[in-house]
Amino acid sequence: MESLKLVLIGNSQVGKTSLLFQFCEGKFQPTTISTTGVDFRFATIYYKGEAIKLQIWDTAGQERFRTITSSYYRDCDGVIFIYDISNFSSFQQLSYWIKSVNENAPPNVSKMILGNKSDLENRKNVPTRDAKELATSLGAFFFEVSAKSGDNVEPAFQAFSQFIYQK
Ligand code: GDP
Ligand code: MG
Repeated sequence: MESLKLVLIGNSQVGKTSLLFQFCEGKFQPTTISTTGVDFRFATIYYKGEAIKLQIWDTAGQERFRTITSSYYRDCDGVIFIYDISNFSSFQQLSYWIKSVNENAPPNVSKMILGNKSDLENRKNVPTRDAKELATSLGAFFFEVSAKSGDNVEPAFQAFSQFIYQK
């Protein structure tokens, strides 16, 4: 069975762990326990009758100190950049994470940007247009999602994984 390694990256508090939980368990986990070290979960998606196993890596607090090491990105097939649409600086700081990926991830790695927390009132803090522009410049997929409501989470992971699988 084909297995793909995906990694989640972005500022602390944008909802990386919540998105992973929503995708894998189909629900929102209101409080996330911050542990140390790298964490990952497995998920399976189905495409044309084939099972595709995903190994999805999550940072466990190192992003706060920006101490993500190159081993985190080793052999990954896809990088998922996450920002919080209610927090403009989490979007601006994607430039730091993009640099980190460019320096450490395999050169042909596939990319997706997710604007999380689309359920919030102040969702307009990051204009959709700006995020789309950034995604286009990176050749990345782009979705606005909500780990809380689950909106768009499954379609985003499904589309991205299928694309990588077909590459
Ligand atoms: P991480 O540091 O990037 O892993 O972020 P967490 O998953 O720990 O989430 C940070 C905070 O944002 C927590 O209080 C979550 O409950 C909250 N959160 C995560 N996703 C969403 C979402 O889609 N909507 C809302 N309203 N809150 C969210
Ligand atoms: Mg986390």
